[in-house]
Amino acid sequence: MTGSSRKPPSPALETLCLHAGAASLSAEFGLNTPVVTSSAFDYRDGTVRYPRYHNSLNHAVVSARLAALEGAEQALVTASGMGAISAIMMTLTRPGDHVILLDGLYGGTMDLVAGLLVPHGLTYRLWDGRIDSLADCIGDRTRLVMVESPTNPLLDVIDLPGLADLARSHGIVSVIDNTFATPVLQQPLKLGFDLVVHSGTKYLSGHSDLLCGVLAGSQALLGPLKETVIRLGASLNGQDLALLERSLKTLVLRVQRQSENARTLADRLAGHPGIAGVRYPGRGGERERDLATSQMADGGGMLAFWLAADRDPARFLDALALICPAVSLGGVESTICQPALTSHARLEPDERARLGIDERLMRLSVGIEGIDDLWRDLQAGLEQAAY
Ligand SMILES: *Cc1c(COP(=O)(O)O)cnc(C)c1O
Repeated sequence: MTGSSRKPPSPALETLCLHAGAASLSAEFGLNTPVVTSSAFDYRDGTVRYPRYHNSLNHAVVSARLAALEGAEQALVTASGMGAISAIMMTLTRPGDHVILLDGLYGGTMDLVAGLLVPHGLTYRLWDGRIDSLADCIGDRTRLVMVESPTNPLLDVIDLPGLADLARSHGIVSVIDNTFATPVLQQPLKLGFDLVVHSGTKYLSGHSDLLCGVLAGSQALLGPLKETVIRLGASLNGQDLALLERSLKTLVLRVQRQSENARTLADRLAGHPGIAGVRYPGRGGERERDLATSQMADGGGMLAFWLAADRDPARFLDALALICPAVSLGGVESTICQPALTSHARLEPDERARLGIDERLMRLSVGIEGIDDLWRDLQAGLEQAAY
């Protein structure tokens, strides 16, 4: 007994991944949260339970765990990342309002705004990611600014505390799509952001077998967002919630290994004659390195590189034996894609050129395989791709 009145330190993320929000159930259930599959419940205890209302046991456990990981008052699990992003846009804006979007946001986000919300009266402006040009984008009816960092596919690092401060001083809600970094590497609410959204389909689920999304922030923001998610019908079902809970248990281990592998591959690729350039968070000069170090615990599992002019992109992809050409990301298996032909294929060619995305650019989502096996696969691909 020391008599110390100091608060115990908050548990490590590894521990939160396993225990935060766990339900206290009788011993017969064992260690794992039972999966509630019902969509019909006796209502006579005064609660109308229904999976779409987010009031099942699985919703309670998984959303509390995610809130703990993001350091949020509250979190909500949705049926997809786009379900979460739709809820944000439709809750925080009205016809005639204005939003600021980082130039090069996820294609589905841009398509939601331009294809669905602009016809309903929303206006938007693209922002180049520099803090000193943000104030110029803000108008009377600007309601929110939305950003991703690191960006897709070129892994630029945006000054997140700078953005959050400026947004707050103008009374604008700051929103970050934290899919690429995950709370393991970056906790934007602690950097001053109001709202975090995820495509949980990627790193949070991590095994390329689940579609889900996450919202995290204050109770004041999450309350209205939850109503919108219920109205939109973007709530996740019990079985997939259980799958997400299982995945979260290994989130820290997976992301740390993916980051370590990606960092090593970025270094090795940068020294290979078949590569014209490598993009990885913090490699874009001293300023970017300082920024990445100050707001991220590590660089993450995503990297991008350009093949040199003497390598054929299609032959390179065909020659890979271990790394699978696939569009999604964040899984335990490494996947690779050519953004110009996949995620960014819908853009006009000059638009792609402006963003620096050409056919020689490859985006690699690094998995948890042995690093030397991955490196051998890339080396063999580069060799066979030579003209
Ligand atoms: C995949 C993705 C989304 C969309 O999420 P879904 O789960 O596919 O709806 C949003 N943002 C980013 C950064 C993504 O990679």
